[in-house]
Amino acid sequence: MSANVRDTVILGSGCAGLTAAIYAARANLKPLVLEGHEPGGQLSITTLVENFPGWPEGIQGPELIERMKQQATRFGAEIQLGHLQSVDFSKRPLTLNLGKEIIHTRTLIIASGASARWLGLPSEQALIGHGVSSCATCDGFFFSGKEIAVIGGGDSAMEEALFLTRFATKVTLIHRREQFRSSRIMLDRAMGHDKIKFLTNTAVEEVLGVEQKEVTGLRLRNTLNHTESTFPVSAMFLGIGHDPNARMFRGLIDLDDDGYIRTTDQVFTKVPGVFACGDVQDRRYRQAISAAGSGCMAALEVEKYLEEHGR
Ligand code: NAP
Repeated sequence: MSANVRDTVILGSGCAGLTAAIYAARANLKPLVLEGHEPGGQLSITTLVENFPGWPEGIQGPELIERMKQQATRFGAEIQLGHLQSVDFSKRPLTLNLGKEIIHTRTLIIASGASARWLGLPSEQALIGHGVSSCATCDGFFFSGKEIAVIGGGDSAMEEALFLTRFATKVTLIHRREQFRSSRIMLDRAMGHDKIKFLTNTAVEEVLGVEQKEVTGLRLRNTLNHTESTFPVSAMFLGIGHDPNARMFRGLIDLDDDGYIRTTDQVFTKVPGVFACGDVQDRRYRQAISAAGSGCMAALEVEKYLEEHGR
């Protein structure tokens, strides 16, 4: 059995998972990285990343991820497509069930990230990266001097709208109801900003510009009287929340009310040998660099754990 037991498996191939893989591989742990339904994580669906230290001219998100992969595999990490069906943490080694394959491992790093919520419109999906974005800090700069719409009524939407005022001439916050989920302070801040206008009781029916391959406007519907209108904008930012990819761990490790993994001392879950890093446990910072930092911490803790408990 012991020959088939991995020292560590990393669930997720985004910034956190790949940084953990680089560290674990350099510690000679031959990590296996399981790549799920969004290979490369959120960076792989963004464009220019200008705030990752070391890239003064910026780097495309997919290229940054590709370079991290090369760095991890160079030191011996293996990357494999795999969808985790279930896990068994009740005995050692830990068991990961991938459906067609069962993997045994001494430690697990959960770096499965969080997925931005989308409206689910075909036109929206077609224009991701061409004016449709779920990350104001990543893509806001590209719409300097333009008019932008932000969708949502929670703190994320307020935060995105406020951030985007640095670039846009006008930000219209479009929300499907009259009431907001956001905190009073964020709402007041957004409402008090002279560049932000509010359009409530309004839903997006279609993003316009698919043929031109860039957002030209939105087809909107008033949710009270169902009248439709066209609203010209150059970009649509979604601020309708993120869903952490941790559902399969419910009942096994602690999750908070929104499904994020609860960690102590940055990366420890309540199961010894199981660590969590990146956006699946971080609802606050959600940056590539902070995810990478916590991936490093998780890998260092795996090393310590294996030193203490044996390989
Ligand atoms: P949220 O509070 O769940 O708000 C999501 C918003 O998006 C809601 O207004 C919701 O509308 C709307 N929405 C959801 N699905 C939609 C859809 N399909 N179409 C149109 N609208 C849709 O999520 P969040 O804003 O990401 O916040 C999550 C948590 O993180 C909160 O606890 C928040 O306080 C925290 N957070 C804090 C900060 C900060 O303090 N700076 C920043 C970001 C997030 P309905 O209201 O109609 O459901």
